[in-house]
Formats: sequence, C-alpha cells, structure tokens
Amino acid sequence: MKKREFWFVVGSQSLYGQDVLDTVAARAAEMAEAMTKVLPYPLVYKVTAKSNAEILDVVKEANYNDECAGIVTWCHTFSPSKMWINGFVKLDKPYCHLATQYNREIPNDEIDMDFMNLNQAAHGDREHGFIAARLRMPRKVIAGYWQDEKVIKRLTDWMKAAVGVAVSKEMKVMRFGDNMREVAVTEGDKVEVQAKLGWQVNTWAVGDLVKEMNAVTEAEIDELMAVYTENYDIATDNIASIRYQAKEEIAMKKMLDREGCKAFTNTFQDLYGMEQLPGLASQHLMAQGYGYGGEGDWKVSAMTSILKAMGENGNGASAFMEDYTYHLVEGQEYSLGAHMLEVCPSVAAGKPRIETHHLGIGMNEKDPARLVFEGKAGQGIVVSLIDMGGRLRLIVQDIEAVKPIMPMPNLPVARVMWRAMPDLTTGVECWITAGGAHHTVLSYDVTAEQMRDWARMMDIEFVHISKDTTPEKLEEELFLKDLAWKLK
Ligand code: MN
Repeated sequence: MKKREFWFVVGSQSLYGQDVLDTVAARAAEMAEAMTKVLPYPLVYKVTAKSNAEILDVVKEANYNDECAGIVTWCHTFSPSKMWINGFVKLDKPYCHLATQYNREIPNDEIDMDFMNLNQAAHGDREHGFIAARLRMPRKVIAGYWQDEKVIKRLTDWMKAAVGVAVSKEMKVMRFGDNMREVAVTEGDKVEVQAKLGWQVNTWAVGDLVKEMNAVTEAEIDELMAVYTENYDIATDNIASIRYQAKEEIAMKKMLDREGCKAFTNTFQDLYGMEQLPGLASQHLMAQGYGYGGEGDWKVSAMTSILKAMGENGNGASAFMEDYTYHLVEGQEYSLGAHMLEVCPSVAAGKPRIETHHLGIGMNEKDPARLVFEGKAGQGIVVSLIDMGGRLRLIVQDIEAVKPIMPMPNLPVARVMWRAMPDLTTGVECWITAGGAHHTVLSYDVTAEQMRDWARMMDIEFVHISKDTTPEKLEEELFLKDLAWKLK
C-alpha cells in the first residue's frame, strides 16, 4: 500500500509574542503525535503559520507532495484569515477544519486574560471558518475535543475519504472489450471523469489478454491454486476449470500491474479466444483490492476500487453488486443482489466455495469456476455513479443486509440480501427517480457521510437516500440540484 499522511497546519499570528507561539507549536506537535497513535494515517505537525507567505508555502508543498493526502487546520489562537487567502485559493488537497481546543475544561482558578489569549480557538476557528465559507472551499468541519473517541472516529472517516480522493486521482481502469451493447447506464464521458475524478479509462485488446494467458506457466498456476485452496473450499471435481481461472487471473494481474491499473472491466460479449468468462479470477482479483465492473461498466469498477481503498485497512468489505430480484412478501421485503459470477468475497459471511456450473450467457465454451457464498448481515450502503450529461451524480442509499432468508440451493452464484432504506418499495422508488444504476458498489465499512465527503472533494453532485427520505422531498431536491449544477 502506498504511504499516505496528513498535515496538521495550525493558524496563529505574531501579535502574541514568542512564548505563546512556542507553546502553540509544542502543543500542536503533542496533539498530532497523540492523535497519530489512534488515527489510520499519520497526522504530521507542519507549521504554526503566522503569515501569508508561510501559509502559501505549506500549501504549495502539500500540493506537490504525493504522500500528503490532505491538510487538517486548527487555530489555537486567532489567525487573521486574509493571511490564508493566497494559500487557500491554490489548495488542491482535501481540507478538514478541526475546530478543537487544547484544554477540555475551563480552569476555574487559573483562568485570566493570558489564558484567554492563548486558548481562543472558539474565536480563532470562527475567523478561520469564515474565509473558507467566503472562498466557497470544499471542506469538512469537525468540532469537538481532540481526544474524544467520536472526534477521532470522524477524523478517521474523513481521512479515509480523502485517501479515496487520492486513489481516485491515481485511478487507471483497464477495459477488456467495450460496454455491453445497447446499455445506457454504463456509458459515460471518459474525458469528463478524467478531468473531474482523475480516472484514466482505456481499452486493451482481448487478444492481448489471450496472448498473456498463453504465456502463463503451470508452476504459476500451481502457486495460485495453493492460495485458492487455502482460502476457499473446493466444491467441484472440475479442477481444470479452476486452473483455467487461475490462468486468467495471473494474466489479467500481470497486465493490470504492468500498466498500474487498479480496476478493470470485461464483457461476456467479448471473450474471443477465451474458454470461460473470468469468475473466480475476477473475484480473487477483487479480494486483492482491484475494482471490477461487469458488462464493461468502468464507472462501477473504478468506484469499487476506491471504496475498497477507503475501507478497513485499505481494502475493505466493498463489492461490485447488481440488484437482481425482489422478495415482496409483506413484512419481509428484500432485494436479492448477485452477479452472473463476479461478487467479491470480501463481503462473504463464511468461507466461500469454489463451484463450477454452466453459464448460458456469453460465449463460454466451458463451465466457469466461481466463488459461491452468502453475504454477511449488517448496515451498509449501495453506491452508484451516473453520468447525467454535463455532470456526474453520485447516489448513495443506506441498506440493512440480512442473512439470506432462504438457502436457494440451486442458485449457482454468490448472493447478498438486503432491505433498502427507508423501506424496500419506497427505497426502490427513490433509487429509480434518482436514476441509480442496476450495478452498484455495496459496502459494509464505508459510510454515506464518507461518500458525501468524497463527492464534495471531487466536486460532483451527491444524493443520499436514507431512512428520512421521502419521494416528494427527493423529487424536489433533484429538481433544485439540477438547476444548481447547470449554473455551477
Ligand atoms: Mn451486470
């Protein structure tokens, strides 16, 4: 995993004298060090900024430092904000304003005007907040005591969203074949996503993948078979099919790594020269953090990789998903999600089984091997990025996943069952009204708040369907956002 860190930039001014500035610097360093112990990425104290030049310098440095994934600012004292303008207008890294205070308590006996002048974050953070509002800066504001678990959790979540921004800006998607014929929602403006999100979306010939597959050795396949055997239960006698998937995985991984791609797509309509649609191969690549989108869906593929990177330990429980079918019995309304093969085992409730079955869709000469499992229960979200023509819209819906309520013994693919918020049918109405795709990223460890932060940092439209959403309010929201984004 790439090294990432965040910079702690503390605002002040020279008015208070060196003693105060020394105290501010010492405390800022102490706070950064203490918070680093409980945050997922280092928070590095950089500077107590006292002038326009110091702020501009640290912003320029942050912009050009690849390891710096964002800046966290705070004003221990008062920092007149016109000093921040020249820096802030140049800032192109994620920015979080941590409105906190060194002391938790007002010390009853000790407090005098010196104490007040040293500890005036309540004052300084308001001046600091104004200038970001005035400059219309995308920012996260987190207020609270810096040692509180809730503050650390929110800063943790924001840092992961900011890492999602960095991953997005580095994103390269390898497309094998085009999008599925005639499908609308998987289309999109690749120039727009590169300008806005940083994604480089390009195509490679399936014939080149087949050449790469033909060069894979039996020893390489043996090695990967050992990994499969360790992680999964082999529930088929068709070992040749598993070995074929291993060959596909090795070849795709070589091509992805050679080009620095963290996401890929393929389509069952273009498997020329291949015996099987990659199933197990795509699933095991996803387990390693690569994004995937079926039917050429490069938007969902890149998003899968980004959400994985934003999740636990940089490769969380996030999976390419497709809404398939409903259970509409009153009181137990659920969506059943799956794909023809490719669901990431990071969302499995137990040890996945490798099975082989006939696949009627596409040009499969042989029965593809795939991982079959049940998705785990828990709170989560589904995420869809759509191209509205002229802008991108990110739709996030809260869901509650359950253990599938029936075993479905003849279903030959991995499956996840969930209830959309606010309830299944209202949730479906809202999703369809917003234009959400049938392909999503389903995540158990990335939250809607993190996706809101990510969308704000990427400067794209964000729509959240939650337990409080009504179709009426949503319709009005979409209408107003449509106007606002046309003006923007
Ligand atoms: Mn699909």
